[in-house]
Amino acid sequence: MEIKSAQFIVSNSDFTKCPDTGLPEFAFIGRSNVGKSSLINKLVGNKSLAKTSVRPGKTQLINHFLINRAWYLVDLPGYGFARVSKSEREKWQKMINQYLLGRKTLMNTFVLVDSRHLPLDIDLDFIAFLGTHGIPLSIVFTKVDKQNQSATAKNINAFKAALLQQWEELPPIFITSSVSGTGRTPLLNYIGQILQQPNPSK
Ligand code: GDP
Repeated sequence: MEIKSAQFIVSNSDFTKCPDTGLPEFAFIGRSNVGKSSLINKLVGNKSLAKTSVRPGKTQLINHFLINRAWYLVDLPGYGFARVSKSEREKWQKMINQYLLGRKTLMNTFVLVDSRHLPLDIDLDFIAFLGTHGIPLSIVFTKVDKQNQSATAKNINAFKAALLQQWEELPPIFITSSVSGTGRTPLLNYIGQILQQPNPSK
């Protein structure tokens, strides 16, 4: 899929106030600092659409971007900020759960995972939450330019093994770098495929 246009539409803390055009949408989420903003900017070919490395607390909103006037890319606030209070965490959880469970036009959630680490419980737990609720998901490994291929493969295999302890099947997996552009085309084509299915909004 080619990206012809990308524009910021709105930021919300309440999912009921998100756009009501009925257009299909694709959410991106992951641990803070996983490289989500960089990946979003790389995907849409705009260096500053999503803000990179803003302080915790500043990006705690659901951000809608309209792509090709046909679908929304949704930038969800990251999890796992070390310096966030319990009440902030609870607020995040409530907002995210309501959005993920209630948003009828959500086609897929891309869970970003840093390819430099062995599996972390915080990522596995979040994926388990999506799986348990039947929310379609894919896993996007980020920052693969930061180490050699065998180190990446080792971490990804460990992640797959951890998932297979809980699930019979693996979700789609993408391997990306916002620096080299690795994985951009497969990920956009995957979105394109879902959009071409007969009834993209449930
Ligand atoms: P976010 O908090 O998940 O939105 O993460 P950011 O996109 O702000 O990225 C966090 C840090 O990782 C920044 O310093 C980025 O420059 C860096 N980063 C993000 N993606 C990549 C990548 O693919 N390769 C490399 N080498 N650095 C990256």
